[in-house]
Amino acid sequence: MVVSSNKVVCIHYTLRDEAGIVLDSSSGRAPLAYLHGNGNLVPGLEAALAGKSAGDKLEVRVAPEQGYGIRDDRLVQVVPRTKFGDAAEIAPGMQFKAHGPQGPRLMTVKRVERDLVTVDANHPLAGRSLHFQVEITEIRRATREELQHGHVHGPGSHRH
Ligand code: ZN
Repeated sequence: MVVSSNKVVCIHYTLRDEAGIVLDSSSGRAPLAYLHGNGNLVPGLEAALAGKSAGDKLEVRVAPEQGYGIRDDRLVQVVPRTKFGDAAEIAPGMQFKAHGPQGPRLMTVKRVERDLVTVDANHPLAGRSLHFQVEITEIRRATREELQHGHVHGPGSHRH
């Protein structure tokens, strides 16, 4: 069985940035399980995995356009501090979910001045080149329920 649409694929992975700093890793955890062909991984990584087999190891460099997208300066906004209920708690680096027209977005607080808070709705990894080391540990058929939901259930799924 090879990686193709609607297969459940289990991978161990390490994600590094351009400087070799580890940003994320499945090391010490169960492998990540995802449903291939459903946009559950960044496009560049998903494309590189297609056609591979269990046991294969890959190194994949993903450009920002095929990763978390390029940065959009229009997503940086200055909002009144009063928008944040508990104003005393706001500090740079804090992240929170905000609800926008495209659904929930992760916002990062960039700057706090007296009454104004600068927030950035770009993905924290937007504009970054990603370097993945991946090992495919298992490939299986998806269940009917997983196909209906568009994601994996059970161990490694990080979902309901
Ligand atoms: Zn589900």
